[in-house]
This record gives sequence, structure tokens and C-alpha cells, in this order.
Amino acid sequence: MTEIEQLKKDLSHYSVVAYNRILASSAGGNNSVRLGDSEEFLITASGLSLGDTKPENIITINAEGEKINGPEGLKPSKESRMHAAIYVLRPDVKAIFHVHPRYCIALSILGESIPPVTVSAQVKLGEIPLLPESMPGSDELLRDVRNIIPTLDDSVHTLLLARHGIISIGSSITEAYIRADLAEETAHIAYLTKIATR
Ligand SMILES: [Zn+2]
Repeated sequence: MTEIEQLKKDLSHYSVVAYNRILASSAGGNNSVRLGDSEEFLITASGLSLGDTKPENIITINAEGEKINGPEGLKPSKESRMHAAIYVLRPDVKAIFHVHPRYCIALSILGESIPPVTVSAQVKLGEIPLLPESMPGSDELLRDVRNIIPTLDDSVHTLLLARHGIISIGSSITEAYIRADLAEETAHIAYLTKIATR
């Protein structure tokens, strides 16, 4: 199996796992991986459920987020420009998960980020900055992400987008997925604790 075939297989696997973990539903969420050390990236397709991600429907994009390869009739995710911008600003980032986990979003609607309520979160999750509300795929979201990425400390791996979702970055697809999953588990526990102590 070539490197690109392996990356497509891994991106499909973790996209389906994320869907099954309800980190995104409907056609929400989009995940990507860098091709080697290049400025070309594999990303999930627009309009498809993450649960239907397969190696055959993954699209290759360039540093501007434009499609450069992939099946005819499929477009790259509408967040392609945002993914590409993060990779260009951070050569160390090899994979990005952008999902819509419900407890993370619920906390953002309350105007809060995700507190490190468990020891795992304290050790592994790091601070999670809360970005202001903007529409998916918009110039405003792209601008806000571009502005914050260069300011982040190395211990920050996840951003919370108000009323929208999260972005987790990693040095591999597995790492980006694990960070997104831990963010949602932590948000869920924080939410339960909040309810229980009302
Ligand atoms: Zn989104």
C-alpha cells in the first residue's frame, strides 16, 4: 500500500469512528491530513456524512484549499480554506479534525469553553480557546483561525468555535481524533457536573 492509500484508509477509518461516536452528525464535520511534508492535503468531501467517508471519496486540495484531485462531481469540504490555512501556518500539524460535538457546542452557547474537569483533560487536553461565532466556511471564520493560530502555545491543540464545533490539530490522524474525542468526553462530564450541582 502506498503512503497516500494508507492515509486515505486512516482518514476514512477515524472519520467513521468520529461519526459513530456522535462527534458529528448529518453532513457535518470535515477532517484532513497532510501528504508527507508537502502543502497538499487529503480532505473529506462536502455534502457527505463523515459516516460514509471512504478512500474513494476523499479529495486532494492545495494550500489555497482548492481541489486538485479526486472523484468527479465531489467537492472538497467548505472548510477546506480553513484546513489549508492552519497547515500553512503550522508545518508541524499533520492532521486536523473539525467536528460538531454536542456537549462542546452546548458549553459554547453558555459562553464557556471546556474546563479541564478530569485528570486526563488536565494532562492531555490543554487550554481550549473559544472563538467568536461565525458562519461555517465564512471569511470571518477563516480570518479568526488565521489570527489565533500563530499566537497559540504548543500545549493548545483544540479550538472551540462558538455555536459551531471544535478544531483539533495533531501530528497524526490518530492524535487529532483522540484530542477531539477527549474534548467531547470532557465537555460531557463538565456538563453533567454542572447539572448535578444546580
Ligand atoms: Zn463545521
